[in-house]
Amino acid sequence: MSRPLAPCGTLAAFRRHKRLGQPVDKACEDAALHESRVKKAARTGRPAPVAPTVDEATVEVVDGRIVITASLEQARLIAASVMDRALALEPNRYSAAGSLSTVEASTAAAALRTLHRRISQTVRATDG
Ligand SMILES: [Zn+2]
Repeated sequence: MSRPLAPCGTLAAFRRHKRLGQPVDKACEDAALHESRVKKAARTGRPAPVAPTVDEATVEVVDGRIVITASLEQARLIAASVMDRALALEPNRYSAAGSLSTVEASTAAAALRTLHRRISQTVRATDG
């Protein structure tokens, strides 16, 4: 099994993008910039800067509905997490479904797959 890739927004991911000749996204660019500032602070003896805040999704209630506001990057993470959960709930993986019955687990997995598809389609449409 291969090691999971470092997520975007880390120096490791920034280096991976560079190594593979991939475009560098904002989160990784920020991570690299932060790293160079930390190193400069160490050289000059000045206090190290505070880490940049990670791009966070916001969750609010609007008209009794939950509204999640996320960047494209964040939405991709959410979609991936939803798919992970759907896979964990599928009937042949009953051990991960906890106390849910097989029917409940497949219903939940199907709903999560639908949610994953909607988020992914929206991200792709927005990303151009
Ligand atoms: Zn990245």
